[in-house]
Amino acid sequence: MTGAGPPPRLPSPLAEVDDERFARRGVRLLLKRDDLIHPDLVGNKWRKLAPNLAEARGRAIVTFGGAYSNHLRAAAAAGRLLGVPTIGVVRGDELAARPLNRSLRRCVADGMRLFFVDRSTYRSKREPEVLARVLDDAGAAGAYVVPEGGSNALAVRGCVELGRELRGRADVVAVACGTGGTLAGLAAGLDEGQRALGVAVLKGGFLSGEVEALQTGAFGGRRGVWEVTDRFHGGGYARVPAELDAFAQEFEQRHGLPVERLYVAKMLHALTVLTEEGAFAPGTTVAAVITGAPDAPEPSRSPSRSTSPAPPPQSSTSR
Ligand SMILES: *Cc1c(COP(=O)(O)O)cnc(C)c1O
Repeated sequence: MTGAGPPPRLPSPLAEVDDERFARRGVRLLLKRDDLIHPDLVGNKWRKLAPNLAEARGRAIVTFGGAYSNHLRAAAAAGRLLGVPTIGVVRGDELAARPLNRSLRRCVADGMRLFFVDRSTYRSKREPEVLARVLDDAGAAGAYVVPEGGSNALAVRGCVELGRELRGRADVVAVACGTGGTLAGLAAGLDEGQRALGVAVLKGGFLSGEVEALQTGAFGGRRGVWEVTDRFHGGGYARVPAELDAFAQEFEQRHGLPVERLYVAKMLHALTVLTEEGAFAPGTTVAAVITGAPDAPEPSRSPSRSTSPAPPPQSSTSR
């Protein structure tokens, strides 16, 4: 895969959907379709990575992730789209001797050079001496470092525009959170009277502190009105309980929206439960940020499948 492809679709579309679970409570539901920003680099990853790749100014970027990391794959795609060389430091040196999984094959197809490190080194990579040694060994000594998960001050500032695009459009904006970088920027971009709700997909209850630290790094202090709920992680990262999967399937059929399971499904489920619990007053407009899309099916080798799939169906748009 080479080439820049289409330009990003920004601002991303905003579409209202009709869902009786919300209507019954007098709540309007909008979908903020960040999954449509770019076919190869969806959602918040575009908003977070593009400013960092610009800042690299011609240097390679190096970043970090596990064997199934969405962030690594996004960084590789961003590098291809923006013409920036990428180096991925991957957790687990035992992986170096095995065939690459699908996620890592994609990274390589997008031009990322992979470097595998053992788990204990990987865990210690925030220590400056360890990082310096890893970068040296990876041949990335002069490279621009993007942290694991991609949330640094530039990434957070890149997500401010997401909030700005939603000014005057909703009372509550919900987003799924991994590192919390997207929430940190989104909340800062909203107007007075709007609030952001982060849905943690990881267990641990540490996210509020992270978001606060990210806002302090990016803006010098807390910004906007936001909160985090820790009730909807479904057992932790990458855990998709059967009921959550069923919920997501049903949502897909009902609204023609492909529902990414690790983040987006948990956020939509949270909004549905909270609405049914009466957490939003009648008359509230809730915008759900669709931060990503499910993986495309594995590319087949048959020539008939070599074109990209059609874009997902769009429901009635309020723009
Ligand atoms: C990476 C990712 C997130 C999490 O973003 P953070 O800024 O790390 O909180 C949310 N949704 C999807 C689909 C993602 O890929």
